[in-house]
Amino acid sequence: MASVAKEWREIPGRYNLEGTKCDCCGKVYFPERNFCPKCRRDSIGKMKIVKLCREGEVFSYSIVHDAPAANNSQKPYAVAFVKTKDDVLIAGQLVDVDLEKIEIGMPVRAVLRKLDADGAAGVIHYGFKFVPNV
Ligand SMILES: [Zn+2]
Repeated sequence: MASVAKEWREIPGRYNLEGTKCDCCGKVYFPERNFCPKCRRDSIGKMKIVKLCREGEVFSYSIVHDAPAANNSQKPYAVAFVKTKDDVLIAGQLVDVDLEKIEIGMPVRAVLRKLDADGAAGVIHYGFKFVPNV
């Protein structure tokens, strides 16, 4: 699941939690796409940027024990696929939660948090993480 964290940092849309919606069939994609794989040519020029719902539930998750060196202070940690109320799957770290209490279907919401500092550049990234929605 290390690739999830990498992907997280590299996609600017994650700062605003925006996806694209196909104006033909209404499906929302995240990360953003230029066209809808279902509608293909019909969807070109009809993809609209939409803000994603920040509330959702845990669709699947895994506990990461073997974290990169930069994450030493916080391992193990949980990475989850969250299904938002727009029916979009977003991968992200689950924080502020007892790892043993995480379960499929648990309500969560996205919050803007400091992500890991980049070891090489010393750059601190901000992005969305998920916390229990109680
Ligand atoms: Zn479509």
